[in-house]
Amino acid sequence: MIMETAKRTDGIDNSAVKTLRVAIDGPAGAGKSTVAQLVAKRLGLLYIDTGAMYRAATWLAVKNGIDVKDGDAIAKAAGEAVIKLEPGDETSSNRVRVFVDEHEVTQAIRSHEISELVSPVSVHSPLRKVMVAQQKELAKRGGVVLDGRDIGTVVMPDADIKIYLTASTKVRAQRRMKDQEALGENPDYNKLVAAIAERDNRDSTRADSPLKQADDAIAIITDNMSIDQVVDAVVRLCVGE
Ligand code: C5P
Repeated sequence: MIMETAKRTDGIDNSAVKTLRVAIDGPAGAGKSTVAQLVAKRLGLLYIDTGAMYRAATWLAVKNGIDVKDGDAIAKAAGEAVIKLEPGDETSSNRVRVFVDEHEVTQAIRSHEISELVSPVSVHSPLRKVMVAQQKELAKRGGVVLDGRDIGTVVMPDADIKIYLTASTKVRAQRRMKDQEALGENPDYNKLVAAIAERDNRDSTRADSPLKQADDAIAIITDNMSIDQVVDAVVRLCVGE
């Protein structure tokens, strides 16, 4: 996979912060992407949404009619594609814009279909190998915020700051409901709760790099916190306050 990413933003003027490597992990719907993106902006770091990379690989598998059980074929297709992440703007409700070859898939990768398939696709070791190698390369020079499931444990085990963001299943399902309604979908709350529980279970029990809190990660439970409060807490940890 050839991957291009956005440039760093200006952020705050603090040279020690500019080289930080920040890992944010946690289950679906804990607010990782939103928080990671805002933290990166505040600190002038590059944000890399690793979930979007697995979602793009899933989209590619569906488009090419590849069986989601065929890890080798999915890894090969992802390895040959150009997956590009660009900063969010008004066309993407400020979420990272994602391109696979000549297709913009920003919205398509957030659909119910892809959300259901991404976790079974992400269990495959050949695909994880391709993705993790790329993520390590992007993180190598520092000045990055990566969010995902295995960032603090596998991709950046030596990250400067490790955060584990989580929230109750109920709160996470409510957040996903809002996301999907914004995409014009009509989600059923109980089905979303079940789907999130299933995805958590699959992500946490898979053999290769399961979702788990790194021993040296700081846990933040976001149920009763606003996005701004979570961002402030993470930024304070990053600048050593
Ligand atoms: O973060 P997001 O919900 O977009 O991630 C989608 C899926 O991608 C997760 O449920 C998980 O199966 C997979 N993933 C992963 N490793 C990562 C990031 C995401 O396995 N580092």
